[in-house]
Amino acid sequence: MDFADRRQVGKVPGNSQKSTLEMMAKASTCFFCGKLGRMGYDFFVDLQYDLARSAETVRKYSAAGRICQYHLWQLASMASPLDLAPTLAAIARETAERWQARGGNSEKHIKQRGLSSSPKGCCLVCTFIQRSETRLARDFQKILATQNGRAAYEQSLGFCVRHTALVASRMDTKIAAFILDHARKRFSELSQDLQAFSAKSASQRRGPLESVEKTIFSRALVQLAGNRHFTNPC
Ligand SMILES: [Zn+2]
Ligand SMILES: [Zn+2]
Repeated sequence: MDFADRRQVGKVPGNSQKSTLEMMAKASTCFFCGKLGRMGYDFFVDLQYDLARSAETVRKYSAAGRICQYHLWQLASMASPLDLAPTLAAIARETAERWQARGGNSEKHIKQRGLSSSPKGCCLVCTFIQRSETRLARDFQKILATQNGRAAYEQSLGFCVRHTALVASRMDTKIAAFILDHARKRFSELSQDLQAFSAKSASQRRGPLESVEKTIFSRALVQLAGNRHFTNPC
């Protein structure tokens, strides 16, 4: 699985705010996404391990709707088929029981027996990501309330669209204006970089992309759409 942001941000050591500020200033994409990606990745590594060894975890995740379709695919891309097979077997068994348990063939009954019987928003992975995101928003709110935090943020490429809005909405008017002004400059620069990339690509369409050009493209995607693995809470 390609957790590009994890590699870019690397380990955040302990609670050292100085290190966090330095890393935020140097991060090559949204630092918020990077930290969220690392938390999500660690969660998945632990989950993968537990599902392969703990019948209780398998039971927990095989109940209706406890892992959404997106995260089941994501898990499958990381886990070995042998490790994940017991979980899939339990989900299939639970699904079979659900189809059996509810009689009737009206539209309502059919819907109830399918995926819509899962209460929206109950995926355990989505819930973990939502909670982690809220916690990080609180952390960044504290960081950006400080002079040093804003100085580091000013040097950085800033957050993606989603996290710019999330953090700015938690700040007072003056600091929110600072964050939005920074975002305006950075997204304007990003647009110019992409236009230059596009013009060059058009003139050298047959040549391979240089690594710096690939970076512009992937950076733009993270800044505009967020971390591709961890910004889709249900
Ligand atoms: Zn982000
Ligand atoms: Zn999910």
